Amino acid sequence: MKPITPTQWSFLKRYQGILDSKECLSRRFGEDRCDGRIVRAHMIPRSQLIQIAAQGHVHAVPTRLSPIAQMKRSGFAAEDVGIGNFSTLQCFCARHDKTFFAPLEDVALTFTREQLTLLHYRAMAVEVYIRGNAEDAAANEGRKYLSTDPRREPFYEAFQIQSLAAIAAEEHLKRTEKMINLSRYDEIRAAIIRFDATPVLLSACAFRPLYDVVGTKLQDFSEEAAYIGMHILAVDNKPALVFTWLKDQKPSRRFAKSFCLQPYWQLTTLAVQMAFEYAEHTCMRREWWMSTSKGSRALLLNRVAMANEAASIPYDDFLSFEFLIDDWKCRSIEFVK
Ligand SMILES: [Zn+2]
Repeated sequence: MKPITPTQWSFLKRYQGILDSKECLSRRFGEDRCDGRIVRAHMIPRSQLIQIAAQGHVHAVPTRLSPIAQMKRSGFAAEDVGIGNFSTLQCFCARHDKTFFAPLEDVALTFTREQLTLLHYRAMAVEVYIRGNAEDAAANEGRKYLSTDPRREPFYEAFQIQSLAAIAAEEHLKRTEKMINLSRYDEIRAAIIRFDATPVLLSACAFRPLYDVVGTKLQDFSEEAAYIGMHILAVDNKPALVFTWLKDQKPSRRFAKSFCLQPYWQLTTLAVQMAFEYAEHTCMRREWWMSTSKGSRALLLNRVAMANEAASIPYDDFLSFEFLIDDWKCRSIEFVK
């Protein structure tokens, strides 16, 4: 296997630098009342992470470019990450990180409409941040080549894909932020699935569902594509999976419904698969990961590997139940209308 060359390393460093750009997302559409420096905000709160941590560490598949480049050669794997370093993004200033999310961080999670809206908002903000930076990084690299140079092609393609996602995500972010600014949470919709087990996995993301879990096509990637927020959190020491979307986002509602219609014993497996498929922000209790079967680990890591290939090509498969990975015993499903 070929080692990574110095030129490739410096490319990765340059690209990662743009992916790590600092910006307070509250500033993008709202009024500029930022204060303090841009902080390393946790996508999954620390209070959640400590619930599955062992000696201050959670287990996760690395998401930065250089470990990914190495894993593409040596195989994808999960490793220990200190909870202070897990899923931190520089996308809010100190003031907004603290005040905006106080109803999520300082109060018990009971999934009020306000909390659901804030969860959705944060997942969308992170999507806007990640997609926007990926768009900038691709544009920056593409500019180095003439339009006739074939080396420009992958960057141009990545730029188009990321920019389509960024446009759709920004629309959602704007709508969600408006609700928060008006303290009116009537447009949030959710499905809350509660389990009865010890929490072993946490995850947070927003994605555009192309298919539901039985393979029905829901939508294409377009500037108007619907997003769905997905969180796996610990509530009262039990796992809860929460889907959030905005009123009238039919593909999102249909995705959540198709998920909830599956047999209870399959829901944990589907949730875990989804966490690996879509979420850059997924972590696990190390002990749990080591106790899952070799087949399950291979299947899940393969999803991560495929998702990393899909940086340029949208993944055309749909998420469906294959074999049992775990069963946290679903005890209730509640829809917030
Ligand atoms: Zn700010």
